[in-house]
Amino acid sequence: MKFILATHNPGKLREMSDILSHLGVEVVSPADMGITVEVEETGTTFAENAMLKAKAICAASGLPAIADDSGLCVDALNGGPGVYSARYGGEGLDDRGRYMLLLNSLRGQTTRAAHFACAIACAFPDGKTLTAEGRCDGAIAFAPLGEGGFGYDPVFLVPEKGKTFGQLTAEEKSAISHRGRALRDFSAKLETYLKK
Ligand code: IMP
Repeated sequence: MKFILATHNPGKLREMSDILSHLGVEVVSPADMGITVEVEETGTTFAENAMLKAKAICAASGLPAIADDSGLCVDALNGGPGVYSARYGGEGLDDRGRYMLLLNSLRGQTTRAAHFACAIACAFPDGKTLTAEGRCDGAIAFAPLGEGGFGYDPVFLVPEKGKTFGQLTAEEKSAISHRGRALRDFSAKLETYLKK
């Protein structure tokens, strides 16, 4: 069975293909199908944005479509940057610029609790949908540490590891990350769905 994943990121495509391959599922990208749909992420939650994207790509392709949305929620910022994580600080910033802005916003702040969240949505041409979520609790470090990963990884501390996401290997991160958890939750739900 062929599924389309709403991403331009080859890393995400590989990750999704790997986790779903045992279900006999083939995952292709919109580009593979000659589809270009830009979906505005107008939702106020990760789950809403993921579903918006999944439904739009499903409608455009006629294939079951999977989409995800994720971000960093910081308690002292009332859950921000949240769904705005990729756009935090505006267009001109890169990953480092965004996490340095975050560190500056929390200067002098002792409440450092934060979590990463990831939502995955799947929309089928008959209108049925599936959703999955994952979360990873941690804290914002006082300075960046580690060279691995992407985005806010160098400033996200995982207390039980005593390390930031940026100091973990890809395997170590995936075992505990919001995304790893959401992917495993989604894989289990899709397996149950396909058996029905
Ligand atoms: P997207 O869901 O891939 O669009 O990611 C949204 C944004 O959240 C990214 O651009 C990153 O800034 C941030 N983000 C999501 N997941 C992670 C992660 O695992 N590590 C670091 N940053 C992340």
